[in-house]
Amino acid sequence: MHELSIAASIVESVAEAAGKYPGARVKVVRLRLGALAAVVEDSLQFCWELSTAGTPLAGAALAIRTLRVIVHCDGCGMETELDGVQSFRCLKCGELTADLRQGRELEIESIELEEPDKIEEGVEGQI
Ligand SMILES: [Zn+2]
Repeated sequence: MHELSIAASIVESVAEAAGKYPGARVKVVRLRLGALAAVVEDSLQFCWELSTAGTPLAGAALAIRTLRVIVHCDGCGMETELDGVQSFRCLKCGELTADLRQGRELEIESIELEEPDKIEEGVEGQI
C-alpha cells in the first residue's frame, strides 16, 4: 500500500512547514493529485488518518483536488484534456500523443493554519 508512505511523507512536509508558525494548528492540507499519479484517493484519505493520529496534525483534513490528464499534440499544437487514461489521442485531430502536460501531479497546494490566538483563547477557558 504505497499510499501509506505517500501520506507519511505529506505529514512530514506539512509538519516541517507548520513548524515555522509556533502554536498554529493545521486545519486543512490541500493536495493536487493528477489522474495518472496512481494514487487511490480513498486509500490515501484512510492512510492520512492513520499517519496523522497522535501527531500535531491529528484532526487536520486532507482536501484532494484531482487534476485531469492534459496532453499536448504535436500534430495540431492543441492541448487537450483527456476523458480517461485509456487512450492518449488528441481530441482535436486524433493524433497519438505522449506529451503529457498535466496528470502526474502529487503535490501540496496549500496548508491552512488556525491562528495561535484562537488556540490560546480555548486553553484559557479550560483553566
Ligand atoms: Zn491534435
